Amino acid sequence: MLLGCHLSIAGGLERVFAQAEELGINALQIFSHNARSWKMGELPPEEAARFRLSWAASRVEYIVIHTIYLINLASPREELYRRSIGAVVKELERAAALGVPQVNTHIGAHVGMGQEWGLARARAALREVLRRTDGLPVKLLLENTAGEGTVLGSRFEELALLLELDRGGERLGLCFDTCHGFAAGYDIASARGLEETLAQLELEIGLERLALIHLNDSQYKLGSHKDRHQHIGEGEIGLEGFARIINHPKLRDLPFILETPKLAQESAKLDSDADPINLDRIRRLREPRAW
Ligand SMILES: [Zn+2]
Ligand SMILES: [Zn+2]
Repeated sequence: MLLGCHLSIAGGLERVFAQAEELGINALQIFSHNARSWKMGELPPEEAARFRLSWAASRVEYIVIHTIYLINLASPREELYRRSIGAVVKELERAAALGVPQVNTHIGAHVGMGQEWGLARARAALREVLRRTDGLPVKLLLENTAGEGTVLGSRFEELALLLELDRGGERLGLCFDTCHGFAAGYDIASARGLEETLAQLELEIGLERLALIHLNDSQYKLGSHKDRHQHIGEGEIGLEGFARIINHPKLRDLPFILETPKLAQESAKLDSDADPINLDRIRRLREPRAW
């Protein structure tokens, strides 16, 4: 099972491998730089080389870079729009330098310009990003959202449009976040709802585009459109829901990354580091392959 969580790069990029070892995980997600800042200095070749060496010596099989949250690929403000495109291009270049095969991003929000306008704007941004990084061996994953406010990408129809299914778009893939999907109204917590959601995904996008699952429980109810992650099993999706998701024959071979709250204090039931506990909850739910 490819399982891991979002890790902090405080203290240096290659430090994540020691953390991964400690947590016993073979998959991980990182920000490639300070996620609250646009500033992205050049990645020194020595640092990239150290990262690759530490990775090769580790048991980590899968790494994805998450772009910063400031990005809005649908912004009507020209400066923010250009900056966002540039930032995604840079993230893809950094990923290539580090040997990381995937970058995951949120699309952004139309902030009042309307969904159709926002989707067209984001489509143009994605095309430019792909053009400017043509030939790089890195895929760009678009993450589904909870659909808060004017945020784009909560419905498969919207994602299908952005994934450029009509034009090939081999370098674009999908990341499905369980908390976001549930908050957006996809009832993946129930057995029937999960089947219906996967059938819709298959029909509208195609399962071959699905590259990554973010495992997060949801603090809020189905269709709440609120993006509030909860510890595994302590939210509205629940342990049974996660058992079905991680063992589903159509999903079980994908990488699973947790983005659950880091602090145990946010849970009434946890009194130590949250990551080992949430990882352990998932591991206990994993069933051997059915055949
Ligand atoms: Zn996510
Ligand atoms: Zn989220």
